Amino acid sequence: MTEQAAPPTELPLRPQDELQCRRCEVHCDKVVHPGACIERSCPFVYAYEAFGHTYMGCMQRVFDVEIDLDLLRASEHRRGGFGGVMARRAPLPMCRIEVSSCYEQRSDEIGCRNPEFFELPLASPSFRVFAHVDDRP
Ligand code: SF4
Ligand code: SF4
Repeated sequence: MTEQAAPPTELPLRPQDELQCRRCEVHCDKVVHPGACIERSCPFVYAYEAFGHTYMGCMQRVFDVEIDLDLLRASEHRRGGFGGVMARRAPLPMCRIEVSSCYEQRSDEIGCRNPEFFELPLASPSFRVFAHVDDRP
């Protein structure tokens, strides 16, 4: 008896909205860079003081950890910066995100089954002003 081929892996309607992909052995996750939240003066950053330290976080819960601001700033001055933390909710256009692939050496001959996962939201709005109408009399 011949072995039946495995059914094709199902893909979601919008793979761009997923936060992680495990459709092959590589394992990819979206990570967000908290250093960019400060740099971009995102209105969703919050901060509070506790135990003599200032901690920052994201009101939108794009990432759900709270980070010591002094450590973050010190790391941002070093090569590589603070780096990214796991995204827990769909990133917004102002977030700096990237895809982190864990085990690239496990890639097989088929390659990525879900290339749209790597399509990240644009950092700028998807519209542009092309004309100004002056309605003054
Ligand atoms: S919405 Fe994005 S840029 Fe703003 S604080 Fe949250 S993670 Fe940072
Ligand atoms: S390489 Fe492609 S299919 Fe494999 S886990 Fe990453 S996004 Fe998914």
